[in-house]
Amino acid sequence: MTSQVELIGMTRDELRLFVSELGERQFRGNQLFSWIHEHAVVDLDEMTNLPKEFRSQLRLSAEMDIPEIVDMVPSSDTSSRKFLFKLRDGLKIETVFIPEGKRKTVCLSSQVGCSLGCKFCATAKMGLLRNLTAGEIVGQLLAVRRETGERITNIVFMGMGEPMLNYQNVLKAAYIIHDDDGMNISTRKITISTVGIARKIRQFTKEKHPFKLALSLNATDETQRASLMPITKKYSIKDCLEALKEYTDRSRKRVTLEYVLMSGTNDSPADARRLASFMKKLNCKLNVIPYNPIVGEPFKRPTVHQLEKFISNVTGGRSMVTVRWSQGKDINAACGQLYVENVEKTVRNQTVVSA
Ligand code: SAH
Repeated sequence: MTSQVELIGMTRDELRLFVSELGERQFRGNQLFSWIHEHAVVDLDEMTNLPKEFRSQLRLSAEMDIPEIVDMVPSSDTSSRKFLFKLRDGLKIETVFIPEGKRKTVCLSSQVGCSLGCKFCATAKMGLLRNLTAGEIVGQLLAVRRETGERITNIVFMGMGEPMLNYQNVLKAAYIIHDDDGMNISTRKITISTVGIARKIRQFTKEKHPFKLALSLNATDETQRASLMPITKKYSIKDCLEALKEYTDRSRKRVTLEYVLMSGTNDSPADARRLASFMKKLNCKLNVIPYNPIVGEPFKRPTVHQLEKFISNVTGGRSMVTVRWSQGKDINAACGQLYVENVEKTVRNQTVVSA
């Protein structure tokens, strides 16, 4: 069984090549790609335009493995839903579905856990268990689509893990998601969020990938940021800024800055002033995310008043800033709150979907 080829993480070109190696004509690869990624069909019996003999051949040599839904937790205050998936090797990851009117966003994980140890982030507590394959990344999306029946419009790589440290697989997944024979999601609607792995940002720019970038900035003073995000010791704010400037200059795209606002930690008038001056140096927009409390951590969520004050200090009341009140706070489906508990869960009176 282990020699079977996994089809979900294959690009259209790879599928064309694969089917030609099986002796089929290459357009069968396009058909397969479209069944999987346009129609979210992973059952060969349903792929009725493929010849029966070819399907039997595929059954022997290939498989389409989407992660198993072991839990699905709807939020009571929004229509967001958090999915807990079990991977082939038993490890678990989380993915969030966030519908807001016509916009249906899926927040994808790129790694099981994370190695970066940001102090305010729940996923950091897991440590890094492993990278996800391109198939596991796209598989999260297929599973969400199949379960919700929704057409997904936006993708953010803001789930578990650091996408830039699983660079090849994340990009491959992004290209599969973008392909117009498949899900056809515009490159403007696919955002890769990073803590600022400057080396990888430079590579991304040099290779001219068309997707959008977001930087989780969270602090504008090197020492302060290093105490919250240890990666700053390796890639300083200055380094990230230079790498991102290169990206905006060459791509003519704007970067999104994420700023998790923590009361008494990074919300002083001086923080706001530094953030304002940082923003002047870069073609960017700002998303302020009120911190979602994590058990056992000393940080505090800002009040609405504190948040408004901070924003007006940053902008001087002039430009627009988006505040992302995280969706599904009660289900810990907020960004940075994805954490798989390995302990036995207490029974809850919420829908539990088992595949
Ligand atoms: N490692 C990448 C991808 C994860 S994105 C990155 O950091 O960009 C997760 C986002 O949620 C980041 O912007 C992070 O700063 C934010 N975040 C982490 N913990 C949070 C918390 N407790 N409350 C609110 N946002 C948080």
